[in-house]
Amino acid sequence: MDNIWDCIIVGGGAAGLSAALVLGRARRRTLLIDAGAQSNLAAHGIGGLLGHDGRSPAELYETGRRELAVYPSVEVRTGEVVAGERSDGGFVLQSADGTLERTRRVLLATGMEYRPPDLPGLDRLWGGSAFHCPFCHGWEMRDQPLAVLARGARAVHSALLLRNWSDDIVVLTDGPGELQDTDRAQLTEAKITVDERRVAELASDNGELSAVVFADGTRLARRGVLVATTLHQRSALADQLGAEAAEPTPVAENPVAVDGFYRTATSGVFAAGDLSAQMPQVAAAIASGSHAAAAIVQSLMADDHGLAVPEGRRHVNA
Ligand SMILES: Cc1cc2nc3c(=O)[nH]c(=O)nc-3n(C[C@H](O)[C@H](O)[C@H](O)COP(=O)(O)OP(=O)(O)OC[C@H]3O[C@@H](n4cnc5c(N)ncnc54)[C@H](O)[C@@H]3O)c2cc1C
Repeated sequence: MDNIWDCIIVGGGAAGLSAALVLGRARRRTLLIDAGAQSNLAAHGIGGLLGHDGRSPAELYETGRRELAVYPSVEVRTGEVVAGERSDGGFVLQSADGTLERTRRVLLATGMEYRPPDLPGLDRLWGGSAFHCPFCHGWEMRDQPLAVLARGARAVHSALLLRNWSDDIVVLTDGPGELQDTDRAQLTEAKITVDERRVAELASDNGELSAVVFADGTRLARRGVLVATTLHQRSALADQLGAEAAEPTPVAENPVAVDGFYRTATSGVFAAGDLSAQMPQVAAAIASGSHAAAAIVQSLMADDHGLAVPEGRRHVNA
């Protein structure tokens, strides 16, 4: 453990790879450790990423890793960081294989676990005709008969948003009493119907949604379903390192609180990507990883040469 990295990046999705590129170009000794389970791998293509619209996620991450190979100060490892703590003014991270690494800075780019409801048939459609984000998948679903599986305010918000892409939308509340009269009025006004029956299964044909099957055995033909999904931290790592959680949002249960420079509550620990994002998307993850890396370089230069950096932490998502 004599070696001390300038930065260890935990997670090699869009945020982590983007940060590693900036750190490599800044000639910083960087170790990226990635477990290889980026959240959008189930999707055929990335919707809405400039220069890569529709590109396969796996291909993007592979290209990102290839680009890093040019920079000799960056090492990329496949693995999982299982624990982290402060040590000697820096940090020690432990991987699942028992390896310990010391570092001056940590960038958490671990993404989030997307938790859709547990519904038979959903797994095989996830990332295709069962989706969570209209900006990612709405274009492919345009003008199709769609459903929104959600309750309460989330159902109203998702259905009204999805109305941008289709004028045939049914809200499925999966049980009675989930909407207020004012919600119903708003949906009716937008020509969105509501079905309160219990949902039993999503039926598919050739890998695409064909119908929603209700508990009473009847079916509703649909080509796509937006499923209300909540994001959760994938591990206790942020917590172990003292990075405080921000307030829950309608989408994310426990995002990490960061300031405008992606600094967490623990000095020296940064967080980027879905873990700290308000809008989970690839473009935002790339941007935040890039910005966090620049802030990390500046913080190292502040320690080493007195470069002035902003002091306070004004949380952008707390
Ligand atoms: C099905 C689906 C489809 C989507 N489609 C789109 C789309 O079309 N367009 C769009 O803009 N966005 C889309 N998104 C959202 C997008 O995938 C995320 O916003 C983006 O991937 C976030 O990037 P990230 O780097 O923060 O996290 P991720 O891409 O999830 O990467 C995090 C990485 O960290 C690794 N990791 C986690 N914990 C550890 C650990 N302890 N040690 C080592 N490695 C670890 C993970 O294995 C993973 O490889 C989609 C999401 C889903 C779920």
